[in-house]
Formats: sequence, C-alpha cells, structure tokens
Amino acid sequence: MPKTRNRTAIMFVATRNRHKLREIGALLAPMGFEIRSCAELGNDDVAENGATFLANARAKLAAYAARTDQWVLADDSGLEVPALGGAPGVNSARYARPHDDAANNAKLLAALAPFRGAERRARFVCAVALGRDGREVFAAEGAVEGVILDAPRGAGGFGYDPLFLHAPSGATFAELSDRDKNRVSHRARALEAVAGFLRARTAQER
Ligand code: IMP
Repeated sequence: MPKTRNRTAIMFVATRNRHKLREIGALLAPMGFEIRSCAELGNDDVAENGATFLANARAKLAAYAARTDQWVLADDSGLEVPALGGAPGVNSARYARPHDDAANNAKLLAALAPFRGAERRARFVCAVALGRDGREVFAAEGAVEGVILDAPRGAGGFGYDPLFLHAPSGATFAELSDRDKNRVSHRARALEAVAGFLRARTAQER
C-alpha cells in the first residue's frame, strides 16, 4: 500500500455515480475534505452482492481502503418498500435492469399498482463505512420515509427520486433542489453521523 500522507485531508469516495459524488461532496467538503473518486485508486468493480446495505458498503470499503492510507468512504443505498417485502432493497440499482432508472421506476410502479395510500410507504436507506489507514473506523446508517406516487414528478435527482414523495417537503426528491434534498436525505443522515465521528476524531487529534 503506498504511504503518502500529506496535509490535505483527502477523502476517497467509493462511487462512480456523479450524483452521489456531488451530494457527498456538498456534505463533506465544508468540513475541509478534498473529495476524490475511488476510481483514482484503480478500476475494479466491487461486487455488490451482500444481503444488506451495510455488508455492501463494507465490501467496497475493504477493497479500496487496502490501496491507500487516506480517508475512504464507501456507501450503499437503495429503496425499501415494506409492501413488497423490502424490495427493491439491495437490488435497487438493478431491479429491472442494471443502472436503468426508467426501467427500474416502471417496474416499481407495476409492482405497486395493487397498493393504495399507506401501503405505498417506502424508505430510502443509506449505509456508510469509513476507513483510514487501510481499515474501517466507523459505520452508520441513515433513512428517510416517504410514499411512492403512481406517476413520476420532477426532473432533478436520480434513481427513484421522481416517485418518492417526501411528505414534510410536500415534494418528490426530484422536485427538490440538491440543497434541500441534502438537508433531509438518507445519505445526509448517514453522513451527519460520519461528520460527527470526524469532528470528535479531529478534536482528539489536536
Ligand atoms: P448504489 O449506487 O449501489 O448505492 O445503488 C443505489 C441505487 O438505489 C441507485 O441506483 C438508485 O436506484 C437507488 N437510490 C439510492 N439512493 C437514491 C437516491 O437518493 N435517490 C434515488 N434513488 C436512490
């Protein structure tokens, strides 16, 4: 493993999803981290075949943390619908077809067609695992509750955002600005826990 510690706090983030990278950057850059993609550490696709979001986040972390002594943040996220037994769950990115948001959303709408009202409750979940010096130092999960609409609304965001109504905002995640989504999202909640850990750790190191 190359040992290259310098003064800048670099945070490698294990995602190639530019939306997720931007959301994570918006949340952690203000803490003084230079956010970089783990693609810089090598190009392997880590299999996301764990049974839980956290297992997948940990598998990604293990793969990338072994290649650097800098901070590494890995996440796995998705949508859980209780009426569908938790689906699409860890298969969210490939529910109908891998990384085809339109097909995945269409499949979700078809699966939920028989359900009304509160039966269409759903939650986004994000698990994060944080590493330093090649090993895990912290892990957390965040979630946000919503309802799946019967037609998409909004042009922002990605994935299931246009179908996910966040009642307190009175809007789907695709209708919210990045900034507003970042205040309430599952990823924001998981990253708030990471930020809390990092603040405590930085205070300790001073
Ligand atoms: P991951 O990149 O393996 O974490 O897969 C996440 C998948 O879950 C994405 O491809 C989306 O389908 C869905 N997902 C996760 N977070 C969000 C979000 O914030 N909005 C919409 N869809 C999301």
